[in-house]
Amino acid sequence: MEDNLYDAIIVGTGAAGLFTALSLPNECKVLMITKDEITKSDSYLAQGGIATLRSLDDYDSYYEDTMKAGRYKNNPESVQEMICSSQNIISKLVDYKVDFDKTKEGTFEYTREGGHSTYRILHHQDITGKEIVEKLLMEVKKHNNISILENTWMLDLIIKNNECSGIVSSCEEELRCYYGKAVYLATGGLGGIFKNSTNYSHITGDGLCISLRHGIEIHDINYIQIHPTVLYSQKEGRRFLISESVRGEGAVLLNEKKERFVNELLPRDLLTEAIYDEMNKYHTNHVYLSLANIKKEKILRHFPNIYNRCLEEGYDAFDELIPVTPAQHYLMGGIKTNINGRTSAKHLYAVGETACNGVHGANRLASNSLLESLVFARNAARCFVESDYNHVVLQPCARVDLEKYKDKNQWQKENRKLLSNEIKRRDKNFYDKWCKFKG
Ligand SMILES: Cc1cc2nc3c(=O)[nH]c(=O)nc-3n(C[C@H](O)[C@H](O)[C@H](O)COP(=O)(O)OP(=O)(O)OC[C@H]3O[C@@H](n4cnc5c(N)ncnc54)[C@H](O)[C@@H]3O)c2cc1C
Repeated sequence: MEDNLYDAIIVGTGAAGLFTALSLPNECKVLMITKDEITKSDSYLAQGGIATLRSLDDYDSYYEDTMKAGRYKNNPESVQEMICSSQNIISKLVDYKVDFDKTKEGTFEYTREGGHSTYRILHHQDITGKEIVEKLLMEVKKHNNISILENTWMLDLIIKNNECSGIVSSCEEELRCYYGKAVYLATGGLGGIFKNSTNYSHITGDGLCISLRHGIEIHDINYIQIHPTVLYSQKEGRRFLISESVRGEGAVLLNEKKERFVNELLPRDLLTEAIYDEMNKYHTNHVYLSLANIKKEKILRHFPNIYNRCLEEGYDAFDELIPVTPAQHYLMGGIKTNINGRTSAKHLYAVGETACNGVHGANRLASNSLLESLVFARNAARCFVESDYNHVVLQPCARVDLEKYKDKNQWQKENRKLLSNEIKRRDKNFYDKWCKFKG
């Protein structure tokens, strides 16, 4: 095979991209690319954990929690698929040596977050994403069939007559085309375009923009989650999340008068609104989080990352209040797919946060995102094996005019405009209230 011909091209090295690669057969020649360094993905930042079905008795409750959080706009088939696959996915992660926290008795230690009616979230301290991504990466590196290119941007898809055959990429100003029997978009969300977001700044909805440009179907792009509690800061840059599991373990929210004003375990959208109203009432930029109800030993064992980061910013969570405020966090909508990751273009799959099969509805239930990324990534890999792998003939299509991709800054500017216009078109109220974009 020539050096720019692959069976599968995966754009993105977060949980969704890595799990897709690991779910493809070893005979597949796979190329993964990422816009930044390999571990700079939102998956790596995940704190709270990954939800799972604890036992079959929990199915109805987990299903209802997911649907209720999603305001019943979820696709029931996707929700069912995600929950039913969860235990198998956790087993696979354990096979890959992911180390979930355990009780003294050696059983899994489950935690709880907003919107969950029971403790069903597995975690590794408060750095679950780092633990999962590092273990998946270790596994990927054992596979000779998978190559990874860092600091390589996908600038476009190569599509003709609604059939995708590759990507246009840029690395250190060198433009290059790669061709594949299938392309997987695992490009994450769009938080990088927002002024206040928990996401990495390079995660700017590129897969979505490129799909929009090619007329690929997009779904519910205005379903954007605002997380209720990030550490308030006047500094520029990524916002630091204070995981919902801190509230799940007993932390409470206080207003300017240091009074409780809300049930801290409401689904994220409702809690965000309550905090927003309270901030407006007292003309403040934040409310407070108090960890006084959580034992110091528990804080150090379960939330060392959050504790230390707050300390760096001048707040000792043992006995001081932490100022918190809402910020953009997650995209529930995205490139429309079925439960096998198929998009409206042939040989083009979308997985993870950039994809939308309706599993989250209008609002994602906490800790369903890592799970969703893994479940549907594996489905999409299986689908490729069953359909495209043995049937698509790999051949570079007509020459691509690379001249138009030379100005990357312009390309990025146009993408931002495209996305912001599309969000505005779909939901003017949300746009006016929450969409403060970078210049
Ligand atoms: C702070 C934080 C905490 C979170 N906590 C949790 C949690 O506790 N539990 C949970 O379930 N979820 C959590 N989430 C959400 C979850 O981590 C992500 O939504 C999910 O992992 C998305 O995975 P992904 O693989 O789709 O995308 P990402 O992990 O974001 O990866 C996207 C990849 O695409 C690459 N990319 C993007 N554009 C391009 C391009 N043009 N060319 C090349 N590469 C590109 C990026 O470089 C990156 O490698 C959290 C998110 C954040 C930000």
